[in-house]
Amino acid sequence: MTDPPLDRSTIWPYEDGEPGEYHYSRYGNPTQSAAERELGELEGGRALLFPSGAGACTAVVLAFLRQGATIALAEGAYYGTSVLFRELEPWGLRFVEFDQTGPPPDGVDLIWLEAPSNPFLTMPDLEAAVRHPAPVLVDATAATPVYLRPLEQGADHVLHSATKFLTGHHDAVLGAVVCRDDGDAQRLEDLRGRTGIIAAPESAWLLQRGLSTLEVRMRRHTESAVVIAERLGAHEAVERVRYPGFGGLLSFDVAGGADAARKVETGTCTILNATSLGGARSTVETRRRWEGERVPDNLVRLSVGLEPLDELWDDLNRALSR
Ligand code: PLP
Repeated sequence: MTDPPLDRSTIWPYEDGEPGEYHYSRYGNPTQSAAERELGELEGGRALLFPSGAGACTAVVLAFLRQGATIALAEGAYYGTSVLFRELEPWGLRFVEFDQTGPPPDGVDLIWLEAPSNPFLTMPDLEAAVRHPAPVLVDATAATPVYLRPLEQGADHVLHSATKFLTGHHDAVLGAVVCRDDGDAQRLEDLRGRTGIIAAPESAWLLQRGLSTLEVRMRRHTESAVVIAERLGAHEAVERVRYPGFGGLLSFDVAGGADAARKVETGTCTILNATSLGGARSTVETRRRWEGERVPDNLVRLSVGLEPLDELWDDLNRALSR
């Protein structure tokens, strides 16, 4: 199999004096379309790429909500999502947080779930959410379509920070929304072209490369994370582990508080003390610095990468025993 070509053109010649399928890249380009087709097939809907996960969130709000609309947001979802919604409050956006393991509140216009939530690793009650009259969006960044296809379970939209597992190598910033309904996808695509919230073709190309290994990577992330979660759970320096049983993302609370947690994150070598998740290279960090009081000060988030399991565990165990 050869890699698909990367087309960086911004213009394509008219055909018989008329614009063809591709004419100006703000409205679409072949590299982006190819990646969208692949992701759409994996999710069972129509995919659209955006310049980041946060850009994808912004596009959803602008496309589907109006002034005065309220989002029911999963409590403990990626902190940047609530920060973004707060940023949009001057435009009349409202949001309320709710426990996604139960039914969403009445009187809201969009339900925003995260599966599993980052960094609390709760899973939503999707059945309860789709019984609600409001449309349902699932941010499935940490699950990926290898473990969860929310559209098949009645959700309306799936969102990804493709910066994470979908591209998978810490070398692209990218977002995606996949819609069940073609009309919704069209509305998003129109908005994308008009607002210019568009992805770079290089990132779309990296998404295609990432998707070609997604399944094997996700299985490997899971195999290692299952063992690491188990060992962390039995470790005397660890108070609590959160892991949903699949994927590469987990979090744990270190006995001894913030100072002990800091020692762990600064004590690893193979595992990078850096933010983000979902890459081939493992990353670890305490989350208090970003998320404030909503996370315990000894909470450490770990994204288990593709390194040999023994190497990862030795690294972590050494850092925990310092
Ligand atoms: N959704 C989740 C679950 C995330 O973890 C992140 C980023 O960490 C985002 C959305 C935002 O994505 P990006 O950083 O690509 O803008």
